[in-house]
Amino acid sequence: QMTDTPWTHAFHKHIAKTSPEPIGLVVDRAEGPFVYTTDGKRYLDLLSGIGVANIGHAHPRVIAAVERQNRRHHHVMVYGEYIQEEQPLYAQDMAAITPKGLDRVYFTNSGAEAVEGALKTARKATGRAGFVAFEGAYHGDTFGALSVAGNASYQIPFEPLLSPVKLLPFNEPEYLEKIDEGIAAVIVEPVQGEGGVRIPTTGFMTDLAKRCQQTGALLILDEVMTGFGRTGKLFALEHWGITPDLLVLAKALGGGYPLGAFIGSAGLLETLTTDPPLSHVTTFGGHPVSCAAGRAGLSVIQEEKLVTNSRDTGAWFLDRLQKSLGVDPRISEIRGLGMFIGIQFVDAQTTRAFTDRCREEGLLL
Ligand code: PLP
Repeated sequence: QMTDTPWTHAFHKHIAKTSPEPIGLVVDRAEGPFVYTTDGKRYLDLLSGIGVANIGHAHPRVIAAVERQNRRHHHVMVYGEYIQEEQPLYAQDMAAITPKGLDRVYFTNSGAEAVEGALKTARKATGRAGFVAFEGAYHGDTFGALSVAGNASYQIPFEPLLSPVKLLPFNEPEYLEKIDEGIAAVIVEPVQGEGGVRIPTTGFMTDLAKRCQQTGALLILDEVMTGFGRTGKLFALEHWGITPDLLVLAKALGGGYPLGAFIGSAGLLETLTTDPPLSHVTTFGGHPVSCAAGRAGLSVIQEEKLVTNSRDTGAWFLDRLQKSLGVDPRISEIRGLGMFIGIQFVDAQTTRAFTDRCREEGLLL
């Protein structure tokens, strides 16, 4: 499958492998919904770089914003000390599109770093140690983020992890009473992504928010994967009508560039300002080029009405999939919300065979 380029050879020899058999498409370029490989093939990228290219690849508006910022300046100072146009304006955009009260933004480089920042903020603000996370959850691969994952096979090789973390079954309201006054924060994805597009009931999410309020545990909502129109709302929290204490974003936030954020109230984010000052700092977080790209990306989502497009196309696509594939005995369920759609197969082998076949047909899943 791999065409031979100078970088194919270097990939095998010098890139640290994350899996024994990398997919290994040799990318030439990407534009709109397509990825083009050096052997002249075109792929429809339903994976969107795993939830990044919500506006498509290399949108001209993003390119223009990046070029403008490239001419002005790159990195100039660690986060939060100098005033650079794109950062505060993007933070202002975030405050405008997220629920009331979430008006202080801490920009990071990635989703995992934003999760780390949110966990640290919760501990320092509440003076409590414990965290609650959910079975099947994924929040990133740094030690803190891995500690609140719900998949033991990824955790065991790296123990001991951060503690104490209580793991509860996802979407089962009867376990929420285990959240108590020792818990600094509960972290949850509004729809589990890595766990297999698992959609909770409105009752579960509202009960969870209520329980957090009762016990003083902060609610951290990880919208790294679900944000920016993926589920047919700008943010998935709109499906359940809940407001978290901390909202975590990344992936599509940067319009294709590396950017993450955790967002909360002024009072909560002040936690990191004093005792000691510089309680949490990043060199590259909120990079000016990433913020410029992200801001342009958000305007594309708004002006091209991509959120309603995600809702409508997603509903159409889910219906078509359920009608055409739903009857196949090798498929146990097809579920989705907007353009966040998962097909559950009876076993891993069948899943692999299906995705391989789709790739042969020019579809990235
Ligand atoms: N949270 C969720 C829900 C994710 O899906 C991911 C990545 O897939 C992360 C956090 C981690 O983000 P990053 O890979 O940018 O560290």
